[in-house]
Formats: sequence, structure tokens, C-alpha cells
Amino acid sequence: MEFSTRAIHAGQEPDPTTGATVTPLYLTSVYTYDTIEGYSAVSKGYDYGRHGNPTRTALETCLASLEGAAHALAFSSGMAAIDACLRLVKPGEHILLAEDLYGGTYRLVEEVIRPMGVEAGYVDARDANLVAEAMLPNTRMVWVETPTNPLVRLVDLAALSEVAHARGAWLAVDSTFATPFFQNPLALGVDIVMHSTTKYLGGHSDIVGGALMVNDPELHARLALLSRIGGAIPSPFDAWLTLRGVKTLAVRMREHERVAFAVAMWLEQNPKVARVHYPGLESHPQHALAKRQMRGVGGMVAAELKGGEAAARAVLNHVKVFALTGSLGGVESILSYPWAMSHVTLSPDERRRRGVEDGLLRLSIGIEDPRDLIADLEQALETALA
Ligand SMILES: *Cc1c(COP(=O)(O)O)cnc(C)c1O
Repeated sequence: MEFSTRAIHAGQEPDPTTGATVTPLYLTSVYTYDTIEGYSAVSKGYDYGRHGNPTRTALETCLASLEGAAHALAFSSGMAAIDACLRLVKPGEHILLAEDLYGGTYRLVEEVIRPMGVEAGYVDARDANLVAEAMLPNTRMVWVETPTNPLVRLVDLAALSEVAHARGAWLAVDSTFATPFFQNPLALGVDIVMHSTTKYLGGHSDIVGGALMVNDPELHARLALLSRIGGAIPSPFDAWLTLRGVKTLAVRMREHERVAFAVAMWLEQNPKVARVHYPGLESHPQHALAKRQMRGVGGMVAAELKGGEAAARAVLNHVKVFALTGSLGGVESILSYPWAMSHVTLSPDERRRRGVEDGLLRLSIGIEDPRDLIADLEQALETALA
């Protein structure tokens, strides 16, 4: 079946006990056994809420189907999913990470994973040759994001999976910005796909959640154990809300992209804007890779203002439709300022080296009417000099 049909039906057959058409919210932490002999048999598939819940199973079945994966596991947050994934690497082994990383991933590696005795290094993953050179004999996992935050840069997943597999390492990718609607990394050879379902999959900025998708049964068994024992599971209600969000993923993503294109094209011809980063534009250095690797480029846009920090602050303080906040992927448009928000802990030189200039704005384009978003940016830009 096609994507939008699977989003609505995969894992969501009418409830076998009642016929309820919509997956019920199973608020229970315990499941009653028929007999003591049935105790270890887990006769109906469930024994305890941390181990499993029918609402969560429905979500996982749907997510696996959308990603084209044999297995999906839902977690209590994107970070919990990343934490479980990085725990596959043992002390003494090495993780090679892309330099362009979600800030939380960087902190998890530096403050939790490295102090446990796991080695870690960083590389510009846009160039597969640099990744090959940075691989060590004990590299067990390569961790990348594509597209990245905030510059919407891409990495070539097919090329990197060859590099990783040639050295016996797993390739894991944070595919949050793309969603399964625009990109299916497992089909390109990636071993583990991670999503923060807080973003587009939930889609309404009302839950925090994460997911991992894999094909390999052994990887699945290990990650399922980490979920059961580590316990970073989503509540049944969060699983239910995420499933409800996922039903409209296809329509939302098409609309996010249509609106983002309109805003990106308008920004690109605006004299106060120095540069627009959007893989759908021909000016994006990886436009060709985007066309090859993705079915669409999504709703994240970055724009660098000529007026630098003063111009950026003027715009941030004058938008009325855009919400000034972090996060992304909801139906509402969000404007954020990486220089003073997500990347503030890096030194100014390091921010610049990574392309995060003081005039850079990150736009998570929602599904409002593009004319209202453009008018909002236009009136806010009018307050900015240069
Ligand atoms: C938000 C985000 C995360 C972390 O997910 P949480 O749900 O906030 O824990 C990881 N990676 C990317 C790319 C994100 O945008």
C-alpha cells in the first residue's frame, strides 16, 4: 500500500475486542493472566506496561511500515532513542559522529557516553572520504544527521553506508528533519534510523517522543532490551497522540514543503537577505544529492540577513505570526536564532566555522498560508536596517 494509506491503517486495524475503529488508548500498566501456568507464556502478548502496551504497539507497527523497516521502537523522547542507540557501543569502542549535530546529541556524547569509556570523534560527514579517513580500527558506529540543523546540509547516506560497512561499523542516522515521507535511509543501506517524533511525526507541538527503526533482528533484540530494561518508553497517551499525528503526515509534509518553497523563494530575492539555505533551491550546494536521496526537501529553511545580529534581533522581535521559540516540525511556523539559542554554548569562532553566522535565522515553516508568513517576514524585515 502507498504511504498515506499506511499512515492511516498500518497497525490500526479495528480493535479486536470491541471493533473500535480508532486505536483505543490502553491505560493499563498490568495485564491479567488466565492461569498461573500462563504466567511465563504472556498469553495475549503483554505482561507489563514498561514491556509493552497495545497503543504503543500500534504506533510502532505504523512507524515501522512508514520507514519500510522490519521493526520500530518508540521512546519517551528523541534523546532517549539516541541514548539507547549509542549504548550499542561498548567501552573501548569508538563512535564517529558528524560535526553538524543536534546539540543534545553532542552533550549526550560528551557528558554521558564518553565518560563511560566510549571513544568519540567528529568529522565533516558531507565528504565520505573524510569519514573513511577518520574511521579507526575500533569504530563501531557512525552517527550522522541529514538534513542537519540549522543549515539544512545533507550527507550522502549510500556512500557513507559503504564506508561504515567496509570497516564493520553500523551507520545510524537522525532523520528527524526529513521524516519517512521524504527519505527512507534503510533502503540506502543505513542500519538504524532515529526520529524525534516530537517534531513532524507528532506534528502538533504537543508531545515529546522518539523512535528507532531497524531491519536487523539482532539489532532489534538488543535495542528492545535497552527499551524494556532502561524503561524510556512513551506513555500510552503520548503514543496515541503521536499515532493521531502520523495519520496526517503525508498531507502535512506536502503542505510544509509547498509553503517552505514559497517562503524560501521570496527570501532569496529579498535585498536584505544575504543567503538562503534550502535544499529545494538550485543555489543549495547539495541540490543534486537532495534530488537523488530524498523524495522532497521538507519545511526547514535558514536565511542569513545582511544586517547581521542587529537585523536578526529586529526581525525576531517583530514577527507576529511566527512563534519565537526552539523546536520545529509543528503546524505553526517557528522562528529561531541559532547564534543565541541552539549554538550559544560554542565560541563565536566555532559558530562561524560551522556556518552559523550572527545574522542567521532558522525557520520551521508550518502550514499557514504562505502569503501571511511572507507578509509577517516583510513587516519584520522593514524594522531591520541594511
Ligand atoms: C529535537 C531533536 C532531537 C531530540 O529530540 P527530543 O524529542 O527533543 O528529545 C534530536 N535530533 C534532532 C534533529 C532534533 O530536532
